[in-house]
Amino acid sequence: MSNESPFIDPPLRERFAAAERPLLSYEFFPPKSEAGMISLQEAVEGLVHTAPDFVTVTYGAGGSTRNLTFEIAALLRRFRYGPVMPHLTCVGSSLDDLNALADRIWDDGFRNIMTLRGDPPKGQTAFIPASDGLACARDLVKLLKERHPDFCLGVAGYPEGHPEADSPQNELNYLKSKIDAGADFITTQLFLENDSYYRFIDRCRAAGIHVPILPGLMPALSLGQIRRITAMCGAALPPELVKRLENAGDHPERAMSAGILWCTEQIVDLLQQGVPGIHLYILNQIRPAMSYQLAQTVMEMTR
Ligand SMILES: Cc1cc2nc3c(=O)[nH]c(=O)nc-3n(C[C@H](O)[C@H](O)[C@H](O)COP(=O)(O)OP(=O)(O)OC[C@H]3O[C@@H](n4cnc5c(N)ncnc54)[C@H](O)[C@@H]3O)c2cc1C
Repeated sequence: MSNESPFIDPPLRERFAAAERPLLSYEFFPPKSEAGMISLQEAVEGLVHTAPDFVTVTYGAGGSTRNLTFEIAALLRRFRYGPVMPHLTCVGSSLDDLNALADRIWDDGFRNIMTLRGDPPKGQTAFIPASDGLACARDLVKLLKERHPDFCLGVAGYPEGHPEADSPQNELNYLKSKIDAGADFITTQLFLENDSYYRFIDRCRAAGIHVPILPGLMPALSLGQIRRITAMCGAALPPELVKRLENAGDHPERAMSAGILWCTEQIVDLLQQGVPGIHLYILNQIRPAMSYQLAQTVMEMTR
């Protein structure tokens, strides 16, 4: 294995341990169209001055978007975004494929991976592992830690429950097994009511999970968009947010502002409660990231 990359990212576990303030991270995704790529590039250029502590790039289910994950990670490097964390899933990969991907990620200087199982393909409800592949994120954590023990691994947590979980207690025990297998921190599925995150933290701590748990937030961009997303991931859609988005009527700009304001309020409250960081699902756009800047301003004004 060669190690010629000029960039070797620090493992994020060191950043969490040394952090004197909450960390900020953005999630980018590989676009499927030319227009999407232009929007991504604009966001990458337009957000670099906001200096997130790290950024992540999701991993698509299909072959072409997989390579795009690494291309976008390289683009973010060129803009000096700090540690770049590719996501990796078990979907469609044999053990040999996963070991080869682990080596590629390591050799490219990445030291942090968001480690996931992935969703079943559209139209299927149950996850079917690839032949000679892995069936869950915990086993991918084990594989990556065996291959390169210094990897720092994030895993997903679900404050309102994962749609496939058979019971909340089994889900919590299983989440703990992901940490016991070597994961260093948890990033949550998006939620729109902070109480669900606070309850989740209490349950995790009581179950002996003591790693940082980063709240994942997504500003609503329109009522239709947030209805679709919450229906897919099972997050509750607060009636008050629905009312605000409805009040925006047919004005997309007003609806987006209402969504960003809601997210800003969530962030202010989370920062006041001492969270280890904020992970923003920014949808490859500049405006959603404003919620964090606005929250910072609110905090400074009320200090
Ligand atoms: C922060 C974040 C980032 C994401 N990034 C991506 C991405 O880049 N690409 C992508 O395709 N998807 C991504 N997803 C979506 C994710 O792939 C789906 O939510 C998927 O359905 C589950 O992935 P997981 O890693 O949580 O799976 P797992 O941790 O394997 O869990 C899947 C389900 O199985 C249950 N389960 C598994 N094993 C056991 C066991 N032994 N006992 C009891 N229950 C068990 C779990 O409780 C859960 O219900 C992301 C999600 C989050 C929250």
